[in-house]
Amino acid sequence: MKPGDDYQCPQCKKETFLKKESVMDGWTKKGDVLKCASCGHVVCELSGKTNSETHSSDPLKSSAAERFKSILGVDDFEKKPVIDSSVEETRFCKDCIHLIPHPFILRCSRFNKDVNPMDDCPDFKKRIGK
Ligand SMILES: [Zn+2]
Repeated sequence: MKPGDDYQCPQCKKETFLKKESVMDGWTKKGDVLKCASCGHVVCELSGKTNSETHSSDPLKSSAAERFKSILGVDDFEKKPVIDSSVEETRFCKDCIHLIPHPFILRCSRFNKDVNPMDDCPDFKKRIGK
């Protein structure tokens, strides 16, 4: 059944047709119904899906988003300079190639600022050897 279909209404006993009407709950659309165009007798309910529901629970869309995210994640990971897999433990400025040793202060050539030996730097690059 669809809107505009001919309909013999058992309620008003008229040859009429179906009209579609939205069922509202306050401001929220709950769904659509088919009604007798003559007396308004509800003939059947159409799918209760609203636009917002189809958006949020579209399995195809969300899986595509997940895929996109994982692609980005992999991409991001590959762009990171992989120097040493154990780097996470020792990202201190004292072990960084950007560090300029000085008797009193330590300078970072990457950011051109004073640093502490135990600073944790986002641009840390492990110094190989001593
Ligand atoms: Zn009717």
